Amino acid sequence: MDGFPTARWCRSRRAGVICTRAAGHPGLHNRVGTSQMWSELEADPPACAGGGRHAAKARLLPGGFPGGRALCLVCWGFVELSPDETLAAHDAFRGAGSEEEASSRAAWFNTYGWDRG
Ligand SMILES: [Zn+2]
Ligand SMILES: [Zn+2]
Repeated sequence: MDGFPTARWCRSRRAGVICTRAAGHPGLHNRVGTSQMWSELEADPPACAGGGRHAAKARLLPGGFPGGRALCLVCWGFVELSPDETLAAHDAFRGAGSEEEASSRAAWFNTYGWDRG
């Protein structure tokens, strides 16, 4: 799990910029290599505005990814569907948590593009 860089990031977001400091770091959030810094109060709320929107299951790759989840068009994460075909409440996508997830996402977008599954 520790082999994949984004899994070790703090991943606080502000206006779509993701903090690349280590998870649990003290002080201000910062995207390394930029002058952008922000505090906890300025960070985007973790909940994605896409929760509760209508969505359909995304098409599956031959390997079964994304396993019945739907693509959230707000944060571009794959999200569980509620029985009434709306997106479950979820935290905004902040980068894949594993190399497997990252490569599956890349394969999915390469296969199905951005035509909304
Ligand atoms: Zn941070
Ligand atoms: Zn979302």
